[in-house]
Amino acid sequence: MLISVQHARTSILEYFSLLPPEHVTLWEAATRVLAQEVVAGHDVPPFRNSAMDGYAVRGADVTAASRSAPVRLRVVAQVAAGALAEREVGPGEAVRIMTGAPMPDGADAVVRFEDTSELWPVGERPATPIVAICQAVPPWENVRAAGEDLREGEAVLPSGTLLRPAHLGVLASLGWGRLPVVRRPRVAILATGDELVNADAPLEAGKIRNSNETTMAALVAQAGGEPLPLGIARDNVESLSAKLREGLAAGVDLFLTSAGVSVGDYDIVKEVLAAEGEMTFWQVAIKPGKPLAFGLLNHESRRVPLLGLPGNPVAAMVAFHVFAQPAIRLMGGRVPLFPPVYQARLLDSIENSGRRHYMRARYSRAEDGTLEVATRGSGVRVQGSGILSSMVWANCFVVVPETVNSLPVGATVEIEPFVWVEEDV
Ligand code: AMP
Ligand code: MG
Repeated sequence: MLISVQHARTSILEYFSLLPPEHVTLWEAATRVLAQEVVAGHDVPPFRNSAMDGYAVRGADVTAASRSAPVRLRVVAQVAAGALAEREVGPGEAVRIMTGAPMPDGADAVVRFEDTSELWPVGERPATPIVAICQAVPPWENVRAAGEDLREGEAVLPSGTLLRPAHLGVLASLGWGRLPVVRRPRVAILATGDELVNADAPLEAGKIRNSNETTMAALVAQAGGEPLPLGIARDNVESLSAKLREGLAAGVDLFLTSAGVSVGDYDIVKEVLAAEGEMTFWQVAIKPGKPLAFGLLNHESRRVPLLGLPGNPVAAMVAFHVFAQPAIRLMGGRVPLFPPVYQARLLDSIENSGRRHYMRARYSRAEDGTLEVATRGSGVRVQGSGILSSMVWANCFVVVPETVNSLPVGATVEIEPFVWVEEDV
């Protein structure tokens, strides 16, 4: 009896939980998941400052100022960004001020240089210079209040935030040098098969290159995990067991194997899994990728989950998308666990037979703004679980439910994109 995709996924996810935090530098925290709430320890900006290059004034002094009737003020000091004004601004006075410099006491607005006229020749600044203010300013014009961005004590970022550049900037402005982020799930990747040679090795008769290792490693990284490629295990118990022990010794959180889980003479992954731990289930009502094994490996006092992915490169990618990706995201604290589901109009007819079919497809936006999706491409053979190049052509899966046998052109179908922006979901 095949178990349903839904049931298989739910049972797999029960074995995973959020990993503990680790401390990294702010730079290393990019694209990581914040592991605690961040509360502002001080105001940002920390002090009231000028938003413009100009003159800090008392607004009441210049209410009548205009270009035709400027108001003259005595310039009693100047203050650059990073410095403090030496004097406060009294009635009839102004302080020359730069963007970001602290507002001097007494002043309640800044008049931009463009609305002033300095009444001295360039390079010949007199002892008591006079500036003509040509524009009235409402209170606090061109002044940034302390804490106008973030207030001391304010909750700024919730635990679980995926850290993008803006988040890192905010953390920097609050003085965070190191911070706790969810540890990246370490995922061992193990290809199995007597026919495999390394991707950079010469091809010999009867051999094929190990492409699954590279695909899986890249998918693991894309899901926020840290891949640990273990190379190739041969189709015998000793070779496979040795590789499994190597991964376990490295302390991985999940094992991904590919191939050797079908019903062929040399498909020994299930047997080794049962010997080294326990096999929880095998064979799921999914297409492609029916031979999928899940189990737990015993290692010291731990039990490490193992997902035995099919060997066919596309089936392995489908199984990764459906089962491994949410497990890795769960451990890494990434939400949502699953890709968004969009509705799209089918551009060609589809046949199905009893399993949930993940069809490679390409979606795009039609002229009316709705989504349309093709499961056949011009000149490419698309569906066939060994046709890996069609995964390059595809940008989503059309998910055909197990209960649906055929769909006509124009039917509305559900698609799952390969990549998506997490915040938009
Ligand atoms: P198996 O499940 O071992 O019968 O493998 C199914 C198919 O996937 C066979 O045609 C294998 O040659 C192919 N295959 C297995 N492992 C890999 C791999 N690492 N890279 C590419 N193809 C593979
Ligand atoms: Mg094999």
